[in-house]
Amino acid sequence: MAQNKLIVSNWKMNLNLSESKKLIHKLTKSTLKKKHYLKKIICPQFLLIPNISSIIKDTNLVLGAQNCHYEKEGAFTGESSIELLKSFNCKYIILGHSERRLFTADSNSLVRKKIKIALSTKIKPIVCIGEPLEFRKNKDYLKFLDKQLNECIPECNEIIVAYEPIWSIGTGLVPKFEEIFEIQNYIKNFLKKKKFIKKISVLYGGSVSSNNIVNIIEESEVDGALIGGASLVEKEILKIISIL
Ligand code: PEP
Repeated sequence: MAQNKLIVSNWKMNLNLSESKKLIHKLTKSTLKKKHYLKKIICPQFLLIPNISSIIKDTNLVLGAQNCHYEKEGAFTGESSIELLKSFNCKYIILGHSERRLFTADSNSLVRKKIKIALSTKIKPIVCIGEPLEFRKNKDYLKFLDKQLNECIPECNEIIVAYEPIWSIGTGLVPKFEEIFEIQNYIKNFLKKKKFIKKISVLYGGSVSSNNIVNIIEESEVDGALIGGASLVEKEILKIISIL
């Protein structure tokens, strides 16, 4: 595994302060810090960010967030700004996750605005796309992904896309490796040709575990993984990092 890979932990709305500190401690203590080709990004919920930011300051872990508002500041009660995230040394931000699309109605146009403000602040967006099961079954998934890519992603120099089929998130179901390969290839070609983006990384997300991570990365040729459930389980995330 010589090429650079991103391993993104999406903690979602999980872990309290002491649980998160304990997990970070284990991650930083693991002997695996010498793997310079692995970038380990931790995306905690907002209120954990100040603490996690100071704990990981001199470690090999990198901080990310799970959302932001599309404006710099203003009368947006309950929201958090990208500038504040930057001040806590956030380097990445997950945008367009299917749970936000479902539960908080993040539309493609809203995701696009959020991507733009993240890019303008030099925080790297990790843009999630992925089809529901019926589109996969009807073989219409490329049409679905095409629309998401087209409407969400602005022309820019660099982007990270996480392919997360909705039917795979938290279900234990994983597409065949050749299916993930097809999609990562499709995303890269689409963004090169239609959005003139030069640097594109594609991650896979959906039921990643220590049992499938190596095959997913090697056989599907993705640039890393976005990991939900397994990133919360100490043994699992340590094993994932150790076998890559
Ligand atoms: C996710 O929600 O981004 C995700 C990949 O979840 P899980 O790994 O639990 O399927």
